[in-house]
Amino acid sequence: MSSILKKIYLDYAATTPIDPEVKKAIEPYLEDKFGNPSSMHSLGQEARVAVDKSRETVADFLGCNFTEVFFTSGATEANNLAIKGVVNKFQVLGFKFRVGIITNKIEHKSVLKPIENLEKAGLIDAAYPPVDKNGVADISNLKNEIKENTALISVMYVNNETGAIQSIKEISAIIQEWKSRNKSKFGIQYPLFHIDAVQAARHLSLNVRELGCDLLSISSHKIYGPKGVGALYVKEGTPIAPLIEGGGQEMGLRSGTENIAGIAGFSRAIELIKSSISNFSAQGGPASGWQFSISNKKLNSKSEIRNKPQILNIRNYFEENLLKEIKDISINGKDASRAPHISNVLFRGVDAETLLIALDEMGIMASSGSACQAKAIEPSHVLLAMGLSKKEVMSSVRFSFGKFTTKEEIDKVLEILPEMVEKLRK
Ligand code: PMP
Repeated sequence: MSSILKKIYLDYAATTPIDPEVKKAIEPYLEDKFGNPSSMHSLGQEARVAVDKSRETVADFLGCNFTEVFFTSGATEANNLAIKGVVNKFQVLGFKFRVGIITNKIEHKSVLKPIENLEKAGLIDAAYPPVDKNGVADISNLKNEIKENTALISVMYVNNETGAIQSIKEISAIIQEWKSRNKSKFGIQYPLFHIDAVQAARHLSLNVRELGCDLLSISSHKIYGPKGVGALYVKEGTPIAPLIEGGGQEMGLRSGTENIAGIAGFSRAIELIKSSISNFSAQGGPASGWQFSISNKKLNSKSEIRNKPQILNIRNYFEENLLKEIKDISINGKDASRAPHISNVLFRGVDAETLLIALDEMGIMASSGSACQAKAIEPSHVLLAMGLSKKEVMSSVRFSFGKFTTKEEIDKVLEILPEMVEKLRK
């Protein structure tokens, strides 16, 4: 971690470095504690205890039961399981309609691709409410878009490219209202509500009962845990079929020998979030002070942010100074309520890829849109859905901040960027 952090890493939305405490929690499972949790002997049982304890930690974090947490290989798998698992189960149960799914054009590809492919295969009908220019899905007509065949609504909590917070609580209320007016079919009240909460996990409360969701995905490597592990919350009684079958691990929903080291690291990363929340509260922040679902006006006002955690101060400091120092730039999604760790900047007249390479040569790492697409250099589907032109999309760079980001690092970037942008514009 230390050598990476000597460089200036501003790509925390792509992945976070492993916290040293997490590394410590993982190590025993890469050494002496190598047992298989399905083995009866003591080494196996030690591993079983580790998985169970981790499941309890995640359940406590999400405010759900132990039996409602299923470990996966990450959020891509959790999202695939939520979508395809529900569609499969509805079909097995003999749903008489073609399954309907409502989602958004700004979702992560791990939600969009399965939905697109299910639709291509003729198995579902997909609907996409419009997205506004700030990257927030417009749900004003959602009530009317829910139909008798709408089995699932899948919406991300925080967008990974802009940080825009989606109207989760409002969507949840609309779904509850719809359910209360409509009788259940084969004992199931639907539409089911799935939240991709990957980018929200450190910044917003993920109490699933308060959110009123049936399914929720999280990923370890966005919260200072290891890669290749995540979890899907599945509310008790939710109709869902496994995608991976075999030895029956994870209560039959996700077979395969558990990734004990990953799971132990993931749960340690969650414990660290919990302790940072209580530290913040102890320092005089409000009990719910880690929740950023406040209006953007407030977020951008200096007096309001004084007592807010460092990361929001960092982002506001970065944006305010960048806007002062460089002309003809803007922040994509600026007027949305945003999670504090992402800033998506449009540098008009600059090719984003060239800027990223120039920044990288100076030891500064940022990204253009979603990292998963970075190789393909195709314009970000999120920014396009917000109405940016292709040219504007290709001039946009995402900077994302984390708990190791310092003001000194931001000062360095602010020192380098104006000149670099000027040069690239010539
Ligand atoms: N959803 C969102 C919003 C994400 O940002 C990501 C990671 N880029 C994923 C899903 C996929 O998570 P994972 O890398 O754990 O598969």
